[in-house]
Amino acid sequence: MNSFHEDIIKKVSSILNAGKYIVAFTGAGISAESGIPPFRGQDGLWNKYDPVNLNLNYYLSNPRKAWPVIYDIFYHHFTDTLPNQGHTILARWEKNKFLKTIITQNIDNLHQLAGSSSVIPFHGNARQLLCTKCNNLLTDLKYLNKNQIPVCQKCGGLLKPDFVFFGEEIPASVLNSAFEEAAKADVFFVIGTSGEVGPANQLPQTAKRNGAVIIEINLDKSLYTNNITDYFLQGKSAFLLPLLDSFLIQT
Ligand code: NAD
Ligand code: ZN
Repeated sequence: MNSFHEDIIKKVSSILNAGKYIVAFTGAGISAESGIPPFRGQDGLWNKYDPVNLNLNYYLSNPRKAWPVIYDIFYHHFTDTLPNQGHTILARWEKNKFLKTIITQNIDNLHQLAGSSSVIPFHGNARQLLCTKCNNLLTDLKYLNKNQIPVCQKCGGLLKPDFVFFGEEIPASVLNSAFEEAAKADVFFVIGTSGEVGPANQLPQTAKRNGAVIIEINLDKSLYTNNITDYFLQGKSAFLLPLLDSFLIQT
């Protein structure tokens, strides 16, 4: 750790220690150390795949083309993907009544697997698939196959991963509770998100407008860094969260 890091880490930990309503807002970067690549940034998936495959209308009308890509992105590694230290520390902070809630853009369920219970999954959950005809839910992913589009065992309808596709609305209840939590925060902790996907990317602005201090962890600068971030910690979340944790006073 260099001296710049140490000063800022101490400052940020004192802000966290004084926080009364700390909310974490996470993106794909927090899961990078679990082996799930983000969309954007270094090694981002959009360098390799066409985002059209995650467009709802495209998926519904071309499932045979879109499904193998979706499978490659989200499902081939799911069964052996585990939470990393970043997820684990946020889960402990919630248990210690230090962190109120996590709003996550991730669809990998890793916060929940790490033990966090107060999680708002803003973009849904890829670990289940929903029938587009009868709403039947599939939660056992072991039968998923790259070369076979997923179909409902009850009615034969096409199954859709239960996350928000491009071109799909965020459910109103999720949207409202996320923006309410952001507005209540006195410390808003932005971790591993590029800030490019709306409307989720408006949450930090909402927190800031309502008086929150914005702390950010990212490998690279995001759209927030030179704009609304008060304290920027540059680096990997799986390294910086344990480091910050070691400076915190927790009972
Ligand atoms: P993004 O791909 O747009 O940006 C990822 C950000 O994380 C970048 O700013 C990058 O610099 C940063 N980053 C990369 N590795 C990091 C690390 N180790 N530590 C800290 N930061 C790191 O992701 P986004 O902003 O979350 O938005 C895109 C959408 O992508 C989300 O809505 C989400 O649904 C979807 N997505 C989810 C997953 C997942 O569930 N794990 C994976 C890929 C994409
Ligand atoms: Zn069905």
